[in-house]
Amino acid sequence: MVVAVSPPAKVLVTGANGYLAVWVVKKYLEAGYAVRGTVRSLAKSAFLKDRFAHYGDRFELVVVEDITKDGAFDEAVKGVDAIAHTASPFHYKATDPDELIIPAVRGTTSILNSTLKHGNAVKRLVLTSSVAAVREEVTTPRVFNETTWNNSAMEAVKTKGSTVGPVTIYLASKTLAEKAAWDFVATHKSEISWDLVVINPPYVFGPSLSPAPTVDDINTSQREVYDTLSGARTSTQLRNQGNWVHVAVAAEAHVRATHVAAAGGERIIVTSGPFFYQDLLDAAAELGIPNVPRGEPGLTKDIPIIINLETNKAKELLGLTSETPLKDLVEESVKDFKERGYPGFIV
Ligand code: NDP
Repeated sequence: MVVAVSPPAKVLVTGANGYLAVWVVKKYLEAGYAVRGTVRSLAKSAFLKDRFAHYGDRFELVVVEDITKDGAFDEAVKGVDAIAHTASPFHYKATDPDELIIPAVRGTTSILNSTLKHGNAVKRLVLTSSVAAVREEVTTPRVFNETTWNNSAMEAVKTKGSTVGPVTIYLASKTLAEKAAWDFVATHKSEISWDLVVINPPYVFGPSLSPAPTVDDINTSQREVYDTLSGARTSTQLRNQGNWVHVAVAAEAHVRATHVAAAGGERIIVTSGPFFYQDLLDAAAELGIPNVPRGEPGLTKDIPIIINLETNKAKELLGLTSETPLKDLVEESVKDFKERGYPGFIV
């Protein structure tokens, strides 16, 4: 069964107050969909009501206090045509794997079960997974694509438990959650009337649409940008390589994954390209941005890209072709940090 869900259909977006989710909500509304967002706290999410007030009753919020509870989403899924499940903890502070793995996995199985039982109108479920579920740690160049899995993070958590470290705990949480979703779909194949699309973004960077009054309120990924541009990186860290995607592109991928019929049943990596942390400082230098440290220009010129991501599916299925220049990201991030009066960027 391959069904596209087009506007003015209603989409349920879980964790609607999150960094990426606010952009996802914005993109759905701009595309003409109606959105029901779930949040843990209405008080904390009041800014959403203000931000999207001009959409009137096309935007609503409901509270789901504990996403790990059986039946947590039973009411929320009623009457929606599609679901984007983004809610999942993303931080590098966990000391116990359960802290991240339980909400990531049970949150996913909980919404899948609620959709199975009560999502009579649902035709598509888009899951925000991550490149965390696709790539493993490498020391020599390797290409990862939608057929590869981060088995080593799951294995490390299984064998080493709490000693494994917070980053690996996060990587395992995303891998286990995505696996749980595909397993669920395989198990309930004959009972479900919707299909699953998984979006796998690497680090999502770009200005937040959330209040984030202090630096400590910045979400985990954009904090990487802040820390780099404010000079908190060692030489070793500046040599590290990652992959990133602009938050607007990652959000748009969710919308296209909803209305592109052929995306059903696919994992899709969505990336703007690889980067070294030094590249962010080089971009700031090129833009002539004052007060941003220059790092060590030329530091990475002989280092190969070791984590390579294939981008064909995003191009072919979702039509996401343009790679965002890192310079644009740095320019808009610095502007955003200045407007918020963050330390190091006060005008
Ligand atoms: P945020 O921390 O900004 O948002 C996370 C959202 O999930 C919030 O709505 C949060 O609610 C909710 N959440 C977190 N923990 C729980 C929990 N235990 N129970 C219920 N809800 C919870 O993260 P991002 O926007 O950065 O990430 C959103 C999604 O995108 C996640 O699934 C993440 O893994 C994925 N992703 C993010 C990337 C990135 O670089 N940002 C890259 C790839 C994937 P509350 O505010 O109430 O805590």
